[in-house]
Amino acid sequence: MEHKTESKSGTPLYDVVVIGGGPAGYVAAIKAAQLGGNVALIEHDTLGGTCLNRGCIPTKAYLKNAEIIEEIHKASSRGIKLVNEAFVIDMPETVKMKNRVVKKLTGGVAALLKANKVEVLKGIGVLQNDGTVLVNEKNIVEGKKIIIAGGSKVARIPIPGIDSPLVMSSDEILSMEELPGSLVVIGGGVIGIEMALIFAAFGLVVNVIEMEERLLPFMDKSISAFIAQLLKKKGVVRIAAVAPCSSEYLTNSRASL
Ligand SMILES: Cc1cc2nc3c(=O)[nH]c(=O)nc-3n(C[C@H](O)[C@H](O)[C@H](O)COP(=O)(O)OP(=O)(O)OC[C@H]3O[C@@H](n4cnc5c(N)ncnc54)[C@H](O)[C@@H]3O)c2cc1C
Repeated sequence: MEHKTESKSGTPLYDVVVIGGGPAGYVAAIKAAQLGGNVALIEHDTLGGTCLNRGCIPTKAYLKNAEIIEEIHKASSRGIKLVNEAFVIDMPETVKMKNRVVKKLTGGVAALLKANKVEVLKGIGVLQNDGTVLVNEKNIVEGKKIIIAGGSKVARIPIPGIDSPLVMSSDEILSMEELPGSLVVIGGGVIGIEMALIFAAFGLVVNVIEMEERLLPFMDKSISAFIAQLLKKKGVVRIAAVAPCSSEYLTNSRASL
């Protein structure tokens, strides 16, 4: 079904044009369509944004594995005697599992957009001075309303050694296919804590460096205290320090705080 109309200048005209197909963008697009609008959504990458592709969903898939490992450890105390308790983490298979989960959910978003007759335009959307949106440097679309939902990118904190190949962002660590023996997590916020819990369960020696007086400094103190206890139980060591290290730290993989 042809969904759009044309503006006076002959370019496709939508009631709403959404730039960005993450949770903010696709939900806005679907809602606008359900309210009767003809809607276009512009996304240059895979639908689902950070959350589905590199954020909430991949980390939860990994956390589920961490939970399974914990259950294996607890099994014998519950009367389930495993004949052979040894197991190894197969990272390439783990990454494949995560990719399958991501694909299923991003496919679900595509299906939802289609079911709601949102037109998905593949490419980079650039808002122009005249209020039109240029898609992939060639097609122009117009919207009576334009929603910018471009999300955010991984921040690279300005510390010496940050460009070392040893440093991974949350994007990269979620596709890591070979486990190192140890991991230093810089930043004890929600993402850092999730990474620490996941990779400690996978058998790595994990240190978390947080410069504030407590982990999860933006949350209630009781939550910080609970998380500190949980990490301790899991063998994760918290180092209370400012992350900037000597540049040798990151090149020699040794902490000198
Ligand atoms: C490791 C990690 C774990 C997380 N875990 C959680 C969690 O458990 N719970 C939670 O609530 N949040 C979590 N988050 C945060 C969550 O991912 C973000 O809050 C959420 O994705 C923001 O949604 P958004 O739609 O605003 O932006 P995004 O998800 O970043 O989506 C923006 C989209 O816009 C597209 N885009 C940008 N510019 C253009 C352009 N010019 N043209 C076309 N497309 C464009 C991008 O490709 C992207 O797909 C996590 C984040 C990370 C990194």
